[in-house]
Amino acid sequence: MGMEELHIPVSPLEQKTVDERVETPDLLICSTVREMQKESMLERPGALLGPIKLVHALWLAGMSCDGCSVAVTGATAPSVESLLTGQLPGVPRVVLHHPVLSTEAGEEFTKNYFMAAEGKLNAPYVVIYEGSIANENLAAETGGYWSAMGTEATPVPVPTATMLKRLAPGAAAVIAIGTCATWGGIPAAYGNPTGAMSVMDFLGVDYRSALGLPVINVPGCSPIGDNFTETVAAILLFLNGLGPLPEFDELGRPAWLFSETVHRHCVRAGWYEEGVFAKHYGDQECLVEIGCWGPVVQCNITSRGAINHMGGCMNTGGICIGCTMPGFPDRFSPFYKTPPGTIVSATASRTYGGFVRSLRRITQDFMNRETRWDRLEQNPSGWSRIPEPGVARKLVHYFYEKWQFWNADPPGRRKPEEKYADGYEVPAVKSGESAYPGQKWR
Ligand code: SF4
Ligand code: SF4
Repeated sequence: MGMEELHIPVSPLEQKTVDERVETPDLLICSTVREMQKESMLERPGALLGPIKLVHALWLAGMSCDGCSVAVTGATAPSVESLLTGQLPGVPRVVLHHPVLSTEAGEEFTKNYFMAAEGKLNAPYVVIYEGSIANENLAAETGGYWSAMGTEATPVPVPTATMLKRLAPGAAAVIAIGTCATWGGIPAAYGNPTGAMSVMDFLGVDYRSALGLPVINVPGCSPIGDNFTETVAAILLFLNGLGPLPEFDELGRPAWLFSETVHRHCVRAGWYEEGVFAKHYGDQECLVEIGCWGPVVQCNITSRGAINHMGGCMNTGGICIGCTMPGFPDRFSPFYKTPPGTIVSATASRTYGGFVRSLRRITQDFMNRETRWDRLEQNPSGWSRIPEPGVARKLVHYFYEKWQFWNADPPGRRKPEEKYADGYEVPAVKSGESAYPGQKWR
């Protein structure tokens, strides 16, 4: 087949779209300007389900370690890539302005923020704040600053706190990401010299976004990336008129993500219930006696994992130090010491759990046997010699089964029910009997 035969003709309009798509954009110019130069026909269909085609996400970093940024780039459900390319049906495409991830730099980058503050984006925007907000007045006393980004007409760095104050009123939503931004976190711990505080503390109790929302808080040090991208997607669906306002709790946390405790979904919770506790790191049992605060901490890492539904603190052997909580870190220190409440709960669990564990062991031994082995009084395993249950165990099993099938149909049947053409009858088999009465072995 010749090359000419492979040519698939396209309409002039389609050809133009294809040409523009493959054209290399100038990634060094301000991305807001770049967006304005685009034609709307280039939007992906998914983004066109609602009235809003794109939303700018203006990322600001205060006193942060960039851990939140790292966590978010690892998100998979949904991924940052799917948000940036408008692949989620009904969710507007996100244009991310990020001090580390954006391609443009310097004035071309900060122009995005100044245009937003002046209302020149021609599209809604959300503000995402990472890190805590230091008291810039303290720094200004000595002519310095704590956290800043870019300069204005005079070459004075603009504190990100100032940037937040300008952008917050016009934002569709202000989202604080990570425990530093949500509750102050480590930079706001006792003894800090910066007067650091959270976004909520900084903007005050009366703050409302352009959509009427108080600050939205997605805590964690670092947070689970999926918790953040999922919250953003839910808010954008709401913004696009295609979803309800997501449910937030009394502290502005996504309620569906932070209402459960770590402990309730912990892979080690069964050990706790049976009163068996780890003594050293690396042990497989519940970690509460070596410092885990999971029973009182609201965090979903035990069910969601850290990245791509894998990992997470106690899944990989770590204790919970309460990093999603407003009291972190001061109220959870000293780390690695048994929390006082544990003395009561672990003692109770040991007492009750020890008894329940031994009862379960008896039932487990029973369930680890084929019914056939009972009738033959022999276990055929070649891996080890398994002793037959003694009289006491047999008695316990007998009454256990009686109770189990009380007012219920036991398995098997009491009379033959099927007769085949050649006269063969399916024999009646009662529970506890083998299918071949009289056969002793094999
Ligand atoms: S390790 Fe922590 S969260 Fe897990 S069961 Fe023990 S106390 Fe609960
Ligand atoms: S389990 Fe505890 S330490 Fe781990 S992420 Fe959740 S709140 Fe933080």
